[in-house]
Amino acid sequence: MTFTRAFACPGCGAHEPAEAFAPLDLRCACGQRRTLSLPLAAELRTPTGGRALVTDRRWRDALRARAAGGPFVLDACPGCGGPLTLPQQTPLRLDCRYCHETSEVPLVEHAVDLLPMLRLSARTWGGGMDLRWIPEVRHGALAEPCCCPHCGAPIEPFVGSAACEHCDGALFAFTACGHRFLPGVRVEGDDEGRALGDWLPLTLALEHYEQRSELAAGSQRSTCAFLGVWLALFPLGCLLALSFPFVGGYVMERFGPVGAFVTLFAYAALAALPFCGGILFLVLRHRRRRAALVGG
Ligand SMILES: [Zn+2]
Ligand SMILES: [Zn+2]
Ligand SMILES: [Zn+2]
Repeated sequence: MTFTRAFACPGCGAHEPAEAFAPLDLRCACGQRRTLSLPLAAELRTPTGGRALVTDRRWRDALRARAAGGPFVLDACPGCGGPLTLPQQTPLRLDCRYCHETSEVPLVEHAVDLLPMLRLSARTWGGGMDLRWIPEVRHGALAEPCCCPHCGAPIEPFVGSAACEHCDGALFAFTACGHRFLPGVRVEGDDEGRALGDWLPLTLALEHYEQRSELAAGSQRSTCAFLGVWLALFPLGCLLALSFPFVGGYVMERFGPVGAFVTLFAYAALAALPFCGGILFLVLRHRRRRAALVGG
């Protein structure tokens, strides 16, 4: 989706002085360089194909910094998939095709940040999650009143961070090409049995993602620890199983079939109780962790 604004060359007044701004030189920390030509009309773009975009912490850090008024997130590095950023006041150079005059405008007025899609699919002790954070930037002309994406109530035009007067929802907006943009994310999918489909502003969406990935990682650690304990107890279990014919035979001799049955039951309980208890402990602990992190 593109947003056009009448952009006249300051030299000759021509209305479409060029196809695109002069290429920007982007450098990644990994050493890769990329040139990017932004069209005169701001575009909503989503990076595609970058494997690192899904889980990369650098993207979340870059977007968080952006939501706090930091550098622009412009593209994905073709080498490592990391975010490529530039300061907001970076000039965009325009070379007029008619009079060959060069003019400059700040990047922040003409580009829209790149928002990556995040995805998380994990088995957890709370039933598992399969979630997608799909970029959905709300936008409208600067002169028009805008609506709160949380509750739909009309809100006064603003730029930067604000809170809705009606629902107290957090909002963040920036402007480009005469439009106001509210960068945000639609969260869709199954969150441990809860169906989600809410729109969240960028900052809350990042927090939402980190809470879920923290829960998923915690669940994975618990599963590893659980399996580790059972692996460590395996020799003890073997000893116990080997001892059964002797103990069972002795009890059978002294107390008859009832004694043998009770012994069998005690052996089964000895194996099953720690197993079921362990699972119950992990489920309850996960629930507590979720309540502390997410609040329910
Ligand atoms: Zn010109
Ligand atoms: Zn890179
Ligand atoms: Zn609201």
